[in-house]
Amino acid sequence: MEGSERLKELYERGEIDGYVENIADEAMKEARIEPPFKKRFFELERKRLVSLLRGWVEVELKRGARFRVKAVEAERIMEIGGLALRGRVDRIDELEDGSELVIDYKSGKASRNDWLTERPKEPQLLIYSAGGNFSGVSFARLVPGELRFVGISKYEVLPGIKPFESDGNFRKKAEGKDWDGLMDFWKTALEGLARDFMDGQAQIDPNGGATGSESACRYCELPAFCRVAELLPVTSEEGEDERSDDDR
Ligand code: SF4
Repeated sequence: MEGSERLKELYERGEIDGYVENIADEAMKEARIEPPFKKRFFELERKRLVSLLRGWVEVELKRGARFRVKAVEAERIMEIGGLALRGRVDRIDELEDGSELVIDYKSGKASRNDWLTERPKEPQLLIYSAGGNFSGVSFARLVPGELRFVGISKYEVLPGIKPFESDGNFRKKAEGKDWDGLMDFWKTALEGLARDFMDGQAQIDPNGGATGSESACRYCELPAFCRVAELLPVTSEEGEDERSDDDR
């Protein structure tokens, strides 16, 4: 498996560009682009990919601590609170002390604040992390011009991410919890969700509310089934709640 040593070696030999282009060529073999603009789109997509990968290699080269990529797109059976889930982890790095760093690639919004709620929207990283010897979880934000890690770590293992104990902003949002306190919080929150699922709890209570950009309903195909709209207050054009007192 690849890792920091191999990357450093390629960099010192001036072979990074060739390495990145090979990866892009491999990835493009999977691309399905329909005619009539196939050739041009293919070239553009390859160019975009090479540029993105080149930028990301720069981010990886800034990592101070050594790492080895232990797994990519690894299917795992994860267990939480008696519930077994099959999931896929984008990447797991092994660090020098033998602990793991769990990474999730993101081409869009990536926020670690969600990990401080009792109903995290993307709990897969946390579920995986709850079961092992790990030192950090992070999104790898793959947005041109904003390539960076967005996560938390116990020690200094990623560029731009402070060790948890000295990450004042995040700790404040975490109400001063230390690392072990955060792990307990995750465990309790995830076990609670698993228990609710196994108990058949199915109240209409969408994560992020029923409307707005944070609502789970945005991507759901079942609003006609759950009739969530009927639970919303009826508002006038001025936005006033028009329910009568009897309706409340
Ligand atoms: S539309 Fe209904 S089922 Fe879908 S997320 Fe919203 S509340 Fe849940």
